[in-house]
Amino acid sequence: MNEYYTSLEELAREVWKSPHSDFYRTAWSKKGYVPDSRRAGNGFDFQNIPILTKEDILSESIAGKMYEPVPPMRFAALSSGTASRPCVSVHSQFKLSPVAGYWNRMPQFSYSSYMVLLSPILGGSALPLALSSNPAAFPSGVIYSFGDVNNLNLSAHIAREVSADHIVTTPSLAVLFVESLRDCGYDPVLIKNMRLVGEPITSAVSALLKKLYPNAVIIFSYNSTEIMFSRMGERSSLCSELEKVSLNAFHLNEEDFYFEEDEGDLIVTTLRKILFPLIRYRVGDRVRFVENFHCSCGFPAGKIGIIGARSDGKSYKIGGAIFRAEEVARVLRIAPPNVITGDFCLHIEQVAEGKRILTAPILILKPSNGIPQPETAAFIFDIFLKEFRVGAKTIREAVEGGFMKPIEIRFDPSIRGCEILPPKELLAGF
Ligand SMILES: [Zn+2]
Repeated sequence: MNEYYTSLEELAREVWKSPHSDFYRTAWSKKGYVPDSRRAGNGFDFQNIPILTKEDILSESIAGKMYEPVPPMRFAALSSGTASRPCVSVHSQFKLSPVAGYWNRMPQFSYSSYMVLLSPILGGSALPLALSSNPAAFPSGVIYSFGDVNNLNLSAHIAREVSADHIVTTPSLAVLFVESLRDCGYDPVLIKNMRLVGEPITSAVSALLKKLYPNAVIIFSYNSTEIMFSRMGERSSLCSELEKVSLNAFHLNEEDFYFEEDEGDLIVTTLRKILFPLIRYRVGDRVRFVENFHCSCGFPAGKIGIIGARSDGKSYKIGGAIFRAEEVARVLRIAPPNVITGDFCLHIEQVAEGKRILTAPILILKPSNGIPQPETAAFIFDIFLKEFRVGAKTIREAVEGGFMKPIEIRFDPSIRGCEILPPKELLAGF
């Protein structure tokens, strides 16, 4: 069976006529798009297909979006383990995937035998689903083991038990995980590959990880939660040319995805026959493309993508925390009235302190009448410390846990609107 669609029109035609799901028929019809069969290519003129948003995707259940019946799971190993709880390992029986083949052209990237998955996005129930929905992403002969994001010591025991030499996790968890590995007697020098997903990489975290995992080739992955194990873009610790462009620049996987840009937004189409193909999906990130880029790592010249802020500027995820504009607005309403307007700009920075990475938020507010007194600033600071939630934690809890610096409050009469911005260095190249 051909694993790819022969053309973008074929992909559009396949999902339109699917007997298993009417997701695209419904979504496109709602947006006024109906293919005109009297025209060439059965009327599936790709450029006129409406762009899908996250809301469109969330409006349908996972089962309702599947274009084929889900294939049976292939578990090959279940170990009771020496850890406190059983360790589930999945032994892939699929042939080496072209996806892995694509990225294996990166020099010194050797696909390893074992992985411990430690990301809140990839862990738990997401993995079996991804295994069955996109088997091509899992090369044969590799044992996949689950870590537990809420129990790093247990995860470290699993890593030791399966002699993990490849870890997939978020940058912030990778930093924390070193201590647990050492505590259970598993030397971090044994980690030969590390793939980081789910969060942007700053120079602080990049430099620290190179020190903490001295033998690892670190792959920074750009993916989308909506396309599990998507690996849309990657940059390795050997890509010094890419890094010069931006810390958020990636080699793009043009074999498996078709990338477009719509008014500065990234639009992605999956070209492989997976259970839920995405067609012209607005990922929600700003992007700038550079064609025919030659990198120092030796990866074949091609398109790179420089990823910017979130398109709507309303949220940002970094360092294990999520900052939301609506949460800033909620807390600002508790601040003394007549001192500030509702306008703000929240800059998120990251700094290294010893073996820790700290998120350092800077909140710039617009004063109503001149710069407020220091007591007022202190009062607002206090409210944010106690009230502002960055995911499950308040800022105070994150500060006490050693993950964050207390929020810095500044005033600037020229601020307008409500915006959350990534670390300044990540906006280079825009
Ligand atoms: Zn490179």
